[in-house]
Amino acid sequence: MVFRILQAGSVEAERLLMKEYGDLACYEQAVREILAEVKCRGDEAVLAYTARFDGVELTAATMRVSEAEVAEAYTRVDEEFLAALRLARDNISAFHQKQLPKSWAEPDQKGNVLGQLVRPLERVGIYVPGGTADYPSSVLMNAIPARVAGVKEIVMVAPPRRDGRLSPYTLVAAREAGVTEIYKIGGAQAIAALAFGTETIRKVDLITGPGNIYVTLAKKEVYGRVNIDMLAGPSEILIIADETANPRYLAADLLSQAEHDVLASSVLLTPSRELAEAVAGEVEKQLQALERREIAAKSLVSYGGAIITADLEEAVALANRYAPEHLELQVQDPWQWLGLIQHAGAIFLGPYTPEPVGDYLAGPNHVLPTGGTARFYSALNVETFMKKTSLLSYTARGLKAEGEAIVKLANTEGLTAHARAVAVRLEDLTEEGEQ
Ligand code: NAD
Repeated sequence: MVFRILQAGSVEAERLLMKEYGDLACYEQAVREILAEVKCRGDEAVLAYTARFDGVELTAATMRVSEAEVAEAYTRVDEEFLAALRLARDNISAFHQKQLPKSWAEPDQKGNVLGQLVRPLERVGIYVPGGTADYPSSVLMNAIPARVAGVKEIVMVAPPRRDGRLSPYTLVAAREAGVTEIYKIGGAQAIAALAFGTETIRKVDLITGPGNIYVTLAKKEVYGRVNIDMLAGPSEILIIADETANPRYLAADLLSQAEHDVLASSVLLTPSRELAEAVAGEVEKQLQALERREIAAKSLVSYGGAIITADLEEAVALANRYAPEHLELQVQDPWQWLGLIQHAGAIFLGPYTPEPVGDYLAGPNHVLPTGGTARFYSALNVETFMKKTSLLSYTARGLKAEGEAIVKLANTEGLTAHARAVAVRLEDLTEEGEQ
């Protein structure tokens, strides 16, 4: 049986809810070496790694995608793709517009003004994974929030295919989403180029986007020199369902996650054993028809299964503990349960909101926290591409009223020069009288 049925509280169920991916030490070593090489040797190292890992010989000039290549990509995609992409782009753009924070400044009764300026980052890098699949949706999900935030320079990197090109779908998505520079490089060497800069690629301020273990560990290593969005782990779905749910839909949704990656997790929590059995049967049946059935089957055997809970309350408690990337509520009245959900990257309510609605088109971002980090991380959003600067403007009256308190606090910390910066002004203000 590919899809196990486990009892809540059993050792196997606990193991399923506590994912372990093994030791990363050997990857860390390899990634550090790549980062150091790119830092010291710039373009030369990036090109050498591209030849070694992607099997493509490029030059400093040809690693940048030209206007002609983008134009040619438009001739190789079909109209239906373009229409679907533009619908997704508009939905994603409209959703992210609503997230835009505003600058503000407010005077108080003494005339002091306090506020916050919100400014976009100037230059960001987005990583778009290559490998076996095309991810034009990842291009949209990373670039559009940056564009909405007002970022002027959006640099995209993606590993080249064996023919030395990027997929036309990826290139068209980049142009439609407002990417301003594109480089055919991937892996840790691309992250290094973005973080340190090379002769050809200028350093960025932030790197976002998912990738494999080399990409993720490289982002972790360069964090601090540049900002990063989050560390994306293998994808996961957790479904809470009751006996009213459709087992065909549930199986299809679980499989849609399992096909991502052999490390992806697909878990069903339900108080109904009958439903779990029907879903397990459907999984077996539907699996046979999938192109990526080998990946999906491996993923389900290791990281998939149904857990039978005493009731829906227990299912919700387990879901909060797991803090899934994607949470589907396929129960009679999903809105009724929403208030109890504490931790999830994105929540999909009801039978007609399968997870791919969010992956591609609805508007919310599909770059979501994984591996339980939904406890403290948010979905990629417009604010990821912005920063806030505080504004302070005190009047003489304001400083006179509160200056002594500042002097006291500064002296208590032993920072007497801090205290003096206020005290010299207070002396003048006392001499001048009330302002
Ligand atoms: P990738 O672009 O992440 O990695 C390809 C690069 O890995 C290559 O260019 C190469 O430089 C590097 N590499 C490969 N083998 C190496 C080695 N032995 N040593 C050093 N570097 C090496 O593409 P991928 O490998 O296909 O992985 C894509 C990942 O992105 C998957 O894990 C997928 O699940 C994930 N993904 C996530 C989302 C999301 O939103 N969470 C979306 C799409 C893809």
